[in-house]
This record gives sequence, structure tokens and C-alpha cells, in this order.
Amino acid sequence: MRPVPRRNAAAYLALLVGLVTTLVAALFVQRGAREERDRRFEDTVREGTLSLQQHLDTYLAMLLGARGLFVSSQEVTRQEFHDYVSSLQPRQRFPGILGIGFAAWLRPGEVAAHEARMRAMGVPDFRVWPPGSRPPYASITFLEPLDWRNERVLGYDILSEPVRQEALERALETGLPAASGKVRLVQEYGPAEETAFLLYLPVFHGPPPTTPEERREALRGFVYAPFRMDDLVAGLRFPGFQRTLDLTIHDGRSIARERVLYTSAATRPPAAFGLERTVPLVVAGRPWTLVFTARESFIEDAPSAQLKEVVGGGLLLSLLLFLMTRVQVNARAAAEAASQVQERLAREAQVAVRVRDDFLGVAAHELRTPLTALTLQLQLLRRLLGKEGPVDKARLERGLETSERQTGRLSRLVDSLLDISRLTRGKLELHLEELDLTEVVQEVARRFELEAQSRDVTLTVDAPEPVRGSWDRLRLEQVLTNLVSNALKYGRGSPVDVSVRAEGEGARLEVRDRGIGIAPEDVSRIFERFERAASSRHYGGLGLGLFITRQLVEALGGRISVSSTPEQGSTFTVTLPPKSPAPPLAREGAG
Ligand code: ADP
Repeated sequence: MRPVPRRNAAAYLALLVGLVTTLVAALFVQRGAREERDRRFEDTVREGTLSLQQHLDTYLAMLLGARGLFVSSQEVTRQEFHDYVSSLQPRQRFPGILGIGFAAWLRPGEVAAHEARMRAMGVPDFRVWPPGSRPPYASITFLEPLDWRNERVLGYDILSEPVRQEALERALETGLPAASGKVRLVQEYGPAEETAFLLYLPVFHGPPPTTPEERREALRGFVYAPFRMDDLVAGLRFPGFQRTLDLTIHDGRSIARERVLYTSAATRPPAAFGLERTVPLVVAGRPWTLVFTARESFIEDAPSAQLKEVVGGGLLLSLLLFLMTRVQVNARAAAEAASQVQERLAREAQVAVRVRDDFLGVAAHELRTPLTALTLQLQLLRRLLGKEGPVDKARLERGLETSERQTGRLSRLVDSLLDISRLTRGKLELHLEELDLTEVVQEVARRFELEAQSRDVTLTVDAPEPVRGSWDRLRLEQVLTNLVSNALKYGRGSPVDVSVRAEGEGARLEVRDRGIGIAPEDVSRIFERFERAASSRHYGGLGLGLFITRQLVEALGGRISVSSTPEQGSTFTVTLPPKSPAPPLAREGAG
């Protein structure tokens, strides 16, 4: 991975801070939303439970009212019962209720009389059923509103069926209202399973008895009401019911499919968001278990828009913050870089100006030395010619020789300056030709003979066999001239050896002196422009010779190096490939 540039760090930091803040805000909002959702669910569960309880309480109150009718009268007629129940308008006002009835308690031997009484009261084919002798009986005597469905039930002995019997026994035992377990109503027929339950309330002769025995003794019958669960629950009112939330009612404390009294869910999917609450309830002495379950749609009602706004806004702000910081930081970095570049350029310009001034100073000095010498020689010669008598030929020759040496030195200096100018502009051209390096070396050595003699230096050339290659003669001569003249100059009059050998395909050339040598720390520097290591008091020079030499050797495809020990001398070594690279050199930044 590419490392993030440091100046972008601030921008990324800003982005990070923005994102973390957004995340924290989103978490807060989400937690708030979750708490709000949980609270809503709890409220709904409470309202649902309350609504069911209120319905059931009303039904119980209605049964108590019906019982009141019996308490107030020894003999309740069909008409009285009808009138009483009609006035209550049960079906309209109490959803789920199928009617209000009364089951008479018939002890052994009372059945026939009861049947006769009922027939006399206008129910011609009244009979206690199912047939068979199993006293006592709790035979349904009244049931209002008496439509064709309810009519079918008249005479039915409630005790003949175990679930109903259990409820009756409980009501008798406690004297309180008792709800039955899950039943199929006698009114129902056909295959559809309509789940229902019944509420029973015992009715006694005389004042209310206090013990189970007294109750059994004084029992007159039961007022009761049958309920269809679906209709009962459909009448419940609480938010989201059957839309975002399901309710299942179980008879008893355990949750089992066969004990389901009612469910609003066709199948029972897992509760969404874990929102499920089980509420135990006691309905007229019978335990019920309500299970409220949230549907997926429950959450859609929740205020999730807030979360979207927070996240969206947060991300947008983070991004803006990031971009703005980046722009700002980049602008600052660019300004800093620009000022750094400017500073560097100014520094370089200052250095360049100083180098140029130094160079001009040195160059002027270097040109002046041979010029002065030349001027002196010319004055001397003029004086010699102006003298009376024959011209001293030997002195004349010496004067001319010295003048030639000085003009040679001058033209070498000028050549160097021209070379430097060409090298810095990359305009050096090579003229390659097949040649023998030993010949070039011999030639250059010959040119130095006089100077060597004048310095009393032995200059030897060790070139046992021809070393041929394709090089530029003039440039080779220049390289050799520079190295040999340095060896003579810094050699302190010691012998100078030049050797040429074939090396591999190419050539190896060495110029060795036993002079002042070069300190190790100066070795890498002396090949650079204007760099000098010797004291300028003792040794003049522009510091250009080795720079030019290196450029030329490299242009010829070779390498130059030096091994030297101070006070013991130096050996400059040039290696050349057999063939110098063409086309002509056009190197950038050679200066
Ligand atoms: P210049 O001789 O004009 O100073 P050069 O580029 O030829 O410039 O040499 C650079 C420096 O390298 C010299 O100033 C000198 O200090 C050192 N140098 C070059 N050749 C020799 C040598 N044969 N022995 C000792 N020092 C040398």
C-alpha cells in the first residue's frame, strides 16, 4: 500500500473525526429509536391486554346483571328473560357474545316436570338432551336472542360434556364466575372449527350460600354466555393490532398449538426484532396466556427517518470537512513548496554567481601568469635586438622557446575554457577512428619531452604492444595531456610513468607519479568542476583539468579512477572499451 502523504493526514483525520462523530450520533439515534420502539411495543401490549380485560369484565358484569334477575324473582318466565336480555342488546354492544342463557339445575326426578313446564311456556318439543339418565342435569332453559341457532341448544345438558362440566364444578365450588376451556359450541355445525369458550355464573335460591355444600344445596342453575373467540378478539381496540402486531391466546399457562383459543397470525413467524411478550391472565378463574408478537411492519411505523438524516447529513458533512481540509492543506503545502523552490533557486543563483566570480578571478590570474611571462620575454627579445653588435643567437632561441611555452600554456587554458563551455552545453562531438593507443601515448610523451627536461623529470612510456580500438584521437590526446601535465606539476620532480595495456577487449592506461599525492577525503571531489585539492599558493590551476578529463573519458565510454597516498604519489587509471559509443555525445547536465 502506498503510504498516505503526510500533508493528507490532516484531511484524513478530519474525515475520521467526522465519521466517528456520525457513527456515535447514529448509534445514539438508533438506540433512541430502539428504546422508542420497545416502549411502543410495551404500550401496545399493555393496551391490548387492558382492552381484552375490559371486554371480559363487561361480559362478567352482564352475567351478574342476569343473575340479578333471578335473585329478584322466584320464577323467571321466558318472556321476562327475553325482555331483560333484549334490553341489554348484547350482540350489538358486546362483540363475540352469542347470547345470554340460563341452565336450570335439575336434581334426580325433576326432569319430567321441567320439560312439562317448558313446554307449557311455549317450547313445544322441549326435552333435556342428550338422552340418558345421569342426574343431576344443567339443562339450558333460556337462551336469548333466540334465533334458529340458539334454539338448537335448548334443553342441552351442560354437564354431559367434560370441559363444560369442569367449569360448572368450579363455579359451584367457588361461587364465582367460571370460564370454560376451549370448546366447540353446540350452535356450530359443519367442518369449520370455531373456537369458543363459555362463562358460567351460579344462581342460588335464597340468600347467597357460603360453603360448597350449601351452594350445591341451594343451586338453582347457571346464567351463562357463549363466546366465539374470533368475534371477541375482533372487537378489541388497540393500535396496530392485526396490522403490525399479532396476538395469540392460549388456554392455560403452557404454550401449545392445541390449546390456542385464538390467533391473528395465519402462520407463526418469529417475532421481528425480538419483540414478543407473553402476558399471563386469569379469566374467570381460568388461566390464559396472551402472546403479543411484532410483525416486520411494526418497525416501519418507527421514526427511522431521523437515523437516515443523521447518517446522510453526517456523511455529507464528513466528506465536506475532508475536502475542505484537503484543499486547505494542499494549498498551504503548495505555497510552502513554492517558497522552498524559490529559496533554493535563490541559493543556487547566489552560489552560481559566487562560483562564476571565483572562476573569473582564478581564470584572470591563470591567464595573466603566462601573459606576464610572455610580455617579459618579448621585452627581453626587443632589448636583445636593439643592442649594438651581433645578436646572441643562443639567448634569442631561449627567449623564443620560453615565449612559445607561454603561448602553448595560454592556448591550453583557452582550449580548456572552450571545452568546459562545450561540455556544459552538451555539444561535445566525437570523431571516431581506428587507432593504436600506444602511438597516441608516444606522441603526447614526445610533446612533453622539453617540459620534462626543464623540470628534470624522467618521463617513461611502457607500451610493449599495440592496443587498438575505435576512439577519438584528439580527445585521447587531451586526456593524456591533462594527466601527464598534472603528474609533472604535482610530481615534485619525481619520475612519471605512463603505461598502456590491452585489457579484455579494451585498453587500460595508467599515469603514475611519486609526488604530493591526494588525501583520501579529496579523491571523490577532484573530478568535479573547479575542485582543487592542492594549495593555490604553490600550485596554480583552474580546477578544470580532471573534470574535463572525466567527461571526455566517459564520453569515450570509459572510466577514470585514482589511487593515491599523500606524499607518496598518485596513479590515475583510465579504462576504455574497444569501441567508443557513437553518435556524438549530447549529454544533459554535463556541467
Ligand atoms: P588543476 O590542476 O588546475 O588544479 P585539475 O582538475 O587538473 O585542476 O586537478 C584538480 C586537483 O586534483 C588539483 O588541484 C590537485 O589538487 C589534484 N591533482 C590532480 N592531479 C594530481 C596529481 N598527479 N597528484 C596530486 N594531486 C593531483
